[in-house]
Amino acid sequence: MNNNNYKQLPPPPQNQSQGYQPPKMVAPQLIQVGLPRNASSSNGPTTIQCPQCNQIGVTTVQSKVGSGTLCCAFILLVTTFCCCIPFLNQNCQDKVHTCPNCQAQVGIHEYKVC
Ligand SMILES: [Zn+2]
Repeated sequence: MNNNNYKQLPPPPQNQSQGYQPPKMVAPQLIQVGLPRNASSSNGPTTIQCPQCNQIGVTTVQSKVGSGTLCCAFILLVTTFCCCIPFLNQNCQDKVHTCPNCQAQVGIHEYKVC
């Protein structure tokens, strides 16, 4: 007797969640729109489009003694006689932004005492 056909294998279980594909989010490519052309509003490295070479890059920030630094030093000299602090503390200095490509100055964030 042929008994091999009487036992039929059940169909493999279908896991519905495995075949489900979540809808893909398509991000709009608008990265290069609206970049600032100078970095004066920021005291840290900022992504800008350079007005000189039109390259997009992150600015290099250098601290420089500015009028705010001198003003801060004067106030400290009058009040505490510790006028050297602003010259040592970069938070009390102007931030000069330069382009990473052409080294052009693209902005200055001036330190303000008040
Ligand atoms: Zn440049």
